[in-house]
Amino acid sequence: MTEKIDIKSLLPEELEAAFRDSGLPAFRARQVFSWLQKGVGSFGEMTNLPRSLQAELAARYWITTPKVLRRQESRRDGTIKYLWELDDGNSVESVVMRYHYGNTVCISSQVGCAMGCAFCASTIGGLVRSLRPSEILDQVLFSQLDSGLPIRNIVLMGIGEPLANMENVLRFLELVNRPEGLNIGMRHVTLSTCGLAEKVDKLAEHNIQLTLTVSLHAPDDETRNRIMPVNRAYGVERVMQSCRNYFEKTGRRVSFEYAMIDGVNDTPRHAEALAALLSGGGFHVNLIPLNNVAESPLRPSTPDHLKRFREILTGHGINHTVRRRLGSDIDASCGQLRRKTLSLG
Ligand code: SAH
Repeated sequence: MTEKIDIKSLLPEELEAAFRDSGLPAFRARQVFSWLQKGVGSFGEMTNLPRSLQAELAARYWITTPKVLRRQESRRDGTIKYLWELDDGNSVESVVMRYHYGNTVCISSQVGCAMGCAFCASTIGGLVRSLRPSEILDQVLFSQLDSGLPIRNIVLMGIGEPLANMENVLRFLELVNRPEGLNIGMRHVTLSTCGLAEKVDKLAEHNIQLTLTVSLHAPDDETRNRIMPVNRAYGVERVMQSCRNYFEKTGRRVSFEYAMIDGVNDTPRHAEALAALLSGGGFHVNLIPLNNVAESPLRPSTPDHLKRFREILTGHGINHTVRRRLGSDIDASCGQLRRKTLSLG
């Protein structure tokens, strides 16, 4: 038997073409696409299709259906964290955050991660596999369905390195953007990368109007090598070159994330170097007090050191913000829930 096709990863026109090849009219493909976008888990539930067609489709296609393995809601700010069980038993996380500019879902692009950043919980068990386009889309779809909160914004900042799964991520973006689907505009999407420079260059060629943010975390190779192994492949200057190129090609300014780690990257010397690196570029830096990860000895910067760091950036006119912490009472950051559940199981 040939393997069944993951139907939710198909674009509407691909579905129409496949239906046409089987002698089915285009409107049937549109009906099916619309059911899939409602989160229906079986062809039997597509009640406007004839029974015979439901059976025919079930023989050729399968529908991804994640289950809620755990759901935690923050009492402080209403942030909801989901741990999904995928069809093959793997699990990934998504987080729904309520911001004044609309509900935002943070989604995963891979099961685990190969990048090995020293401060990140998602990478501890390595990479298991990349997610399918349908599985990335499902996180948006089912977060919205389960929470009842209409999702306006998407951030690809969950588990995994999105640019290490670029083809599937691009397809997901096409799917989520479709008017007959969730219809989320690219200006409502943020993609975060650890700095795979060649992939950033490739993404620039696609000229998608999303916001790209780069996890910089250090202004010099010596410090960055210590906490981000990817820096040995693409050093700070190479990454910056890709960021400038991205802006030139897309007109969209790249922003940076900088996790403040006590004694590692938060000294005045680092602040000066960061200011020099970013001077004149009109860049924005998001300072994130490090979230403690049980398995790591790294700790967040003290409030004093954070203040000192900010003063230096301000002194050099570097545009920056400190990220508000949402859901800190529910392990709502980076792979922490998946780790906990794995070690329990
Ligand atoms: N792989 C992508 C996206 C996932 S991580 C990337 O590297 O950008 C999303 C962001 O959370 C990244 O900036 C990452 O460096 C940061 N992060 C990971 N662990 C963290 C921790 N313990 N505290 C604060 N930020 C962390």
